[in-house]
Amino acid sequence: QTQRTPLIAGNWKMNLDHFEALTLVQKLAWALRDSKVDLQEIDVALLPPFTDIRSVQTLVQGEKMDLAYGAQDLSPHDAGAYTGDVSGAFLKRLGCMYALVGHSERREHHAEDDALVSAKIKAALRHDLAPVLCVGEALDVRQAGDHVAYVLDQVDAALDGSSADALAGLVIAYEPVWAIGTGETAGPADAQEMAAAIRARVVDTHGEACGDATRILYGGSVKTDNAAAIVSGEDVDGALVGGASLDPTGFADLIDAVH
Ligand code: PEP
Repeated sequence: QTQRTPLIAGNWKMNLDHFEALTLVQKLAWALRDSKVDLQEIDVALLPPFTDIRSVQTLVQGEKMDLAYGAQDLSPHDAGAYTGDVSGAFLKRLGCMYALVGHSERREHHAEDDALVSAKIKAALRHDLAPVLCVGEALDVRQAGDHVAYVLDQVDAALDGSSADALAGLVIAYEPVWAIGTGETAGPADAQEMAAAIRARVVDTHGEACGDATRILYGGSVKTDNAAAIVSGEDVDGALVGGASLDPTGFADLIDAVH
């Protein structure tokens, strides 16, 4: 079985301008330096607003910090008359390693459907960005007991038409919509159940090696004190953290707790 490096990704959402971003990254780097976290053993990624990425790049690359960064979204197109869109090509040029695709807030507020999510996955792959595909069910779907089938349909739709080779760096974040920003979390057993089902599905559709290498994160109100339990399942390879990634010392403690 592939040894998967755990990943903790911080989704800042629409918080922090490019000055505030510098402060947060610097404080996080200090906090990590003071902790016993070994960044060779765990990957940490920051996902700031587009307008902050250049600042984050300058600091991370200038100070040779062992932190990766990426974007919260990208255009399905590479260039041209798409006002307001941001190309994966531009993100790659800024040193981004990751791009979130299909976060539930984009599915909800920007009507992103499975077809668009799939197109964005392909755009990320064209530009050598590791997609962090977000999937997850709403409360009514879970209450009806349909959550596994629902999430696997989202995974199938998103990955359809992308080859196993292209998906070598794939990350999938299972984020139940009812747990995002609510203080509710899925239990460790629920997170493991879904992560195992997702992995089995990727093995089915894209082969053993791809399924084995895919990192599967849990997201939804992960905090310092619940993180270690939530990521304890053997198929849960880390966490996508929203609100708790905005406090640099707390986020460093969270990373420490998982690692
Ligand atoms: C998220 O934005 O992906 C998320 C999981 O948010 P929070 O941790 O705030 O619930």
